[in-house]
Amino acid sequence: MTVVFVRSPGASAPGLRRVRTRLHPREETAMHDHRKLGRELDLFDTDPLMGAGLPYWLPDGAAVRHALEEYVRGVERRAGYRHVYSPALGKRELYELSGHWSHYSEDMFPPMELGGEEVVLRPSLCPHHALIYRSRSHSYRELPLRIAELGGMYRAERSGVLGGLTRVRAIQLNDAHIFCTLDQAADEARAALELIGQAYTALGIRAVRHRLSLPGAGGKYVADPAMWERASALLAEVLDSAGITYEAVEGEAAFYGPKIDVQIVDGAGREATLSTVQIDFHQPERFDLHYIGPDGARHRPVMVHRSIIGSVERAVAHLIEVYGGAFPAWLAPVQVAVLPVSDAQLPQAEELVRDCLDLGLRAELAGPEHGTLGARVRGARLVPYQAVIGPEEAVDGRVALRLRDGRRPEPVPAAEALARIAARVDARATGLWEDPGQDRPTGRGSSAGS
Ligand SMILES: [Zn+2]
Repeated sequence: MTVVFVRSPGASAPGLRRVRTRLHPREETAMHDHRKLGRELDLFDTDPLMGAGLPYWLPDGAAVRHALEEYVRGVERRAGYRHVYSPALGKRELYELSGHWSHYSEDMFPPMELGGEEVVLRPSLCPHHALIYRSRSHSYRELPLRIAELGGMYRAERSGVLGGLTRVRAIQLNDAHIFCTLDQAADEARAALELIGQAYTALGIRAVRHRLSLPGAGGKYVADPAMWERASALLAEVLDSAGITYEAVEGEAAFYGPKIDVQIVDGAGREATLSTVQIDFHQPERFDLHYIGPDGARHRPVMVHRSIIGSVERAVAHLIEVYGGAFPAWLAPVQVAVLPVSDAQLPQAEELVRDCLDLGLRAELAGPEHGTLGARVRGARLVPYQAVIGPEEAVDGRVALRLRDGRRPEPVPAAEALARIAARVDARATGLWEDPGQDRPTGRGSSAGS
C-alpha cells in the first residue's frame, strides 16, 4: 500500500483531514460513491439556494441518521456519559479565550455583528463544554465527568473542495469531553478507543490504521513544549497498552494538543479521519478549570476530547459506501416493505404496516398501483424484509417473507414474523434472520482495535 501524505492547511478538527492512500484494486472497486448513491436512493441532496457544502437530509437519509444517532447516544449512556445541548454560536471572546481565534480563525466563518457584539458560528464544541464544566464547582469525587453532545459546528471550507457529505460547511459532531484527573486521563482515553472499536464492529466500519497526530512546524500550534511532550507520551502509552500499531505523523495535531486519529478509506480510495481521541492540557488552563481535591485545594483537570463516529455526515457517507445502500436492518430507511399481491389483500397489508409501526419498525406499503409484484419486489431490493401477502396469507393471517439476501423463510403468523424482525432490529443484529452463520457483519468491516 502506497501512502502519500497531503499536508492540510490550518489546525485539525476531528474527521476533516484527508490523506491519499492507494488501495488494493479489489478494494477500490468494492465500495460505492456516496454522492451518487445519496441522490439515487433519495438520502440527501443540496440546493444552490441553501448553498454549497450545506446538504439537507431527505426522509430516508434522515431515518438512517436518526438510527445512528440513537445508537451512539445509547453507547455513550452505557459508558457513563451525560448528554448536554449547547448553542452553535458563541461570542468572539469565547474563541479568543479558547485559542481558536489566534490558531484556527482561517477555518472559521467571519463574525456577525449583533447589538454591538460579535458572534461566531462555532468551529468546535470544546469551548462550550469547558464553560458548562466551569459553571458548577466540582469535587474530585465527580471525576471523571463525561459530557457528550451531538452538536452543530461550522467550518469555512473553500467552495472548490465541497462535495457530498464528506466536505461540508455545517457539521454535526458526535463529540464528548471528559474532565478528569491526570491519573485518570490514560484510562479514559483507552476506554474511548475501546468504544470506537466496539462501534466499528457494530457498524461494519473498518479502521485502516491508527495515527498519532503530532504538531508540526509553524505558529499554528500552542507553544508549550512540555505540554505537548506530556500529552503525546500519554497517548502513545494508551496505544501501546491497547496493543494498537500506529504511525506518528507530524503536522496533524489539533492546535491545543496531540490526538489519536482512527483512519478510514472511502470509495475513491481516499483516506480520512473518522474518530479521534485527544488529551488536552491547554484548554483547562485557558478556562481556568478546576476541581476540589481530597486535600481541599483547587486542582487542574485534564480534558480528554473524543469522537466515536466523528461527524454524522462523514459517518453516514461512509456507511452508504460500505453497504451500497443495503444497510443492516436496524439502519435501513425502510425495514419492512409490505407487498399485497392484489387489491383484495390491501386491508391486511395496511394492518400489517400499522402493526410494524406500533412495534417501532419503519414500514411502507407498496400496493398494486406501483406495478406488478415482480416490479415491486425489485423496487424494494434494498429493503431487508419484504412481506408478501397473497390470497392464502390474507385468509390465515400469515406472512411470506422474502429476505434481501434472497432467502424465503416458511410463512409464519404475521405477529410472529414481526416480533422476530423487531427483535433483530432491537439487537442491531447484522444478519437478517435467526440463522447461525448469517450473523457476521454484512459490511466489509472489522474491529478498529485489531
Ligand atoms: Zn473538543
